[in-house]
Amino acid sequence: MPQASATASTGLAAEGVSIAYGRTVVVEDLDLAVPPHAFTALIGSNGSGKSTILKMLGGLLSPRAGRVLLDGRPMTGLTTKEVARGVGMLAQGPAAPEGLTVLDLVRQGRYPHLSLFGRTSERDDMACAEALALTGMSELAGRPLDSLSGGQRQRAWIAMTLAQETPILLLDEPTTFLDLAHQIEVMELVSRLVRERGKTVVAVLHDLNQAARYADHIVLLKAGTVVAAGRPEDVVTAEWIAEVFAVAVRVMPDPLTATPMCIPLPLYHRHHSSADG
Ligand code: ADP
Repeated sequence: MPQASATASTGLAAEGVSIAYGRTVVVEDLDLAVPPHAFTALIGSNGSGKSTILKMLGGLLSPRAGRVLLDGRPMTGLTTKEVARGVGMLAQGPAAPEGLTVLDLVRQGRYPHLSLFGRTSERDDMACAEALALTGMSELAGRPLDSLSGGQRQRAWIAMTLAQETPILLLDEPTTFLDLAHQIEVMELVSRLVRERGKTVVAVLHDLNQAARYADHIVLLKAGTVVAAGRPEDVVTAEWIAEVFAVAVRVMPDPLTATPMCIPLPLYHRHHSSADG
């Protein structure tokens, strides 16, 4: 048996993975070890492959080459339910049938745990109640999703993912379309899940400063490859950000948390503060 790395045997890892849509290869020879019990943020410009990589980690896309390991086992050898008991995924902009209530949706998170006949148990009810409580959605459980605000609806989807009770959560832009208060609420919820419940989280995030503040580990992606990965203070540097986003930034410590904070430089500064223009 090939020797698995410590991370691969306790969580999620990709080894030499390539992914293509038709003939277009969008991820090539990617190695990614997801640190267990930590919050990892995938950062990169539009089209850099973040969603593709997340779907691959969630078993929704099969790599053309290489392999994805869940607890040291290749995902290709696992059943859909086995994967779904290990990894919960919240896709970007998910859609639900009209009239579905919050509780109906959250109950769908239990499918990998249901028996052959799909019967629900007390355990399922408890998991749903806890997921609703954690996301502050208990009061709204009976409401149809289409009657909720964008922020409430997003929390309902997160509750569904939590009801799945997986050690690993994959979240694709969980804060998009949320106002600032709800963005912070979601980021803090995710942090708590990691710190208090020992969850492993990988999230695609757009806001670099929020990622630097809340994530333990940041993976910077460009054109389907990892440019840098590590602690926020090690990878959120002016050099790496210029490389990944082609913008000049100044990085300074966040006055509240001392995590790195990026301030994009106006064009004038770009022309006058760099010797090579
Ligand atoms: P990101 O999440 O970083 O914006 P994506 O993973 O969505 O990037 O996309 C990476 C690349 O793959 C892009 O060039 C995109 O156009 C392409 N792509 C994504 N999904 C598909 C698809 N279903 N079919 C064909 N090409 C796709």
